[in-house]
Amino acid sequence: MFSDRANQVTPSATVELNAKVAQMTREGVDVIKLNIGEPDFDTPLYIREAAKKAIDEGFTKYTATPGIPELRKAICRKLREENDISYQDTEICVTTGAKQALYEALITIVQEGDEVILPTPCWVSYEDMIRLSGARPILVQTNRTEGDRFHLDLGAIERAVTKRTKAVIINTPNNPTGVVYRKAELAVLAELADRYDFWIISDEVYEKLIYNDARHISIASLSGNARSRTVTVNGFSKAFAMTGWRIGYAAGPKEFIQKMKGIQGHVTSGINSIAQKAALAAYTTPQDSVAEMCAQFALRREMVYNRLSKMKGVECSNALGAFYLLPDFSAYFGRRWRGGVLKDSFDLADYLLTEVKVAAVPGDSFRAPGCLRISYSNSMECLREGMDRIESSLAELQ
Ligand code: PMP
Ligand code: GLU
Repeated sequence: MFSDRANQVTPSATVELNAKVAQMTREGVDVIKLNIGEPDFDTPLYIREAAKKAIDEGFTKYTATPGIPELRKAICRKLREENDISYQDTEICVTTGAKQALYEALITIVQEGDEVILPTPCWVSYEDMIRLSGARPILVQTNRTEGDRFHLDLGAIERAVTKRTKAVIINTPNNPTGVVYRKAELAVLAELADRYDFWIISDEVYEKLIYNDARHISIASLSGNARSRTVTVNGFSKAFAMTGWRIGYAAGPKEFIQKMKGIQGHVTSGINSIAQKAALAAYTTPQDSVAEMCAQFALRREMVYNRLSKMKGVECSNALGAFYLLPDFSAYFGRRWRGGVLKDSFDLADYLLTEVKVAAVPGDSFRAPGCLRISYSNSMECLREGMDRIESSLAELQ
């Protein structure tokens, strides 16, 4: 009755859990949200004002399919000044969230039966997007050695390359590991892409959320060759707390963007006109609010990391980016609670939600068995309460 493509989709674990938690909250349950992958801050005032102005001035009609020229120009300036990549405005396609940019990039590039390499753990949507595009996800584990934990295993990536390899998707800073890829590893990946002739889809939506002395590197900035085979994906959701505005973009070689724009013209015509004016304000106004938000995340990260790493049986490494930690709770598998025996991360997430009303996403959904993804995008007070509840609930397990 339905297509094979639709039948093989696993609904997004992050989106589904979000809906469940929202329902529990509506019913009056006091849930601590450590699941949510969005900034808890408001969209900055100057961005909201720009959107209101756009409405009042009647900027409410269809716009150019790849986005209004002033926004594409502002994106080019941003990519040049902050990421050291030089793009023309014909090399930018604004999209309905970074999600649409990723999906359209895939369907622009892959043929039925092609392979797309995906370093794991990885964000929940990549695998389904790859399958929906007709390609096969080829999962390659990242490093597990101390000091390199969750960094790219470039030897394993090279071994996974075949004649059908069309692309690799990377995400730095990473969801769910929080790891920020180093220049050296990105340079080797770019060389591999060149040697074996595949694309790099580089998802950089968390680039602004980095801590300590970490630096975000865009792989397309490394060389002319890297630029010519990379699609750089970014957006406004994380840096400017604009998840609900649904605006992001892809930057890539002109011929690629030309094709992607053709597809987008049929799918959405273009992007919400008001969100584009809001995004333009985000990129053309000094970004103090981003730094303030990042400073808050840094404090929360420290607290949550300290608490998790002191919990008995929990293995947690600190991370330099995004707003996630990925602690390993597998020492608790096999323990009993009144609902049964905990056998995997799904059971553990269920146990925490049912028993102590703490929501966290099961690591299995990110190909990180044994782990839970903890998002510290919540107030310090809620995070402390969440840590207390997790600690006491672990102690209850027999
Ligand atoms: N990439 C990653 C790694 C994400 O976590 C998300 C989640 N929002 C997205 C892309 C999609 O972002 P957007 O809201 O811009 O669609
Ligand atoms: N990206 C966020 C997350 O990982 C938001 C939900 C989604 O789009 O997956 O939780």
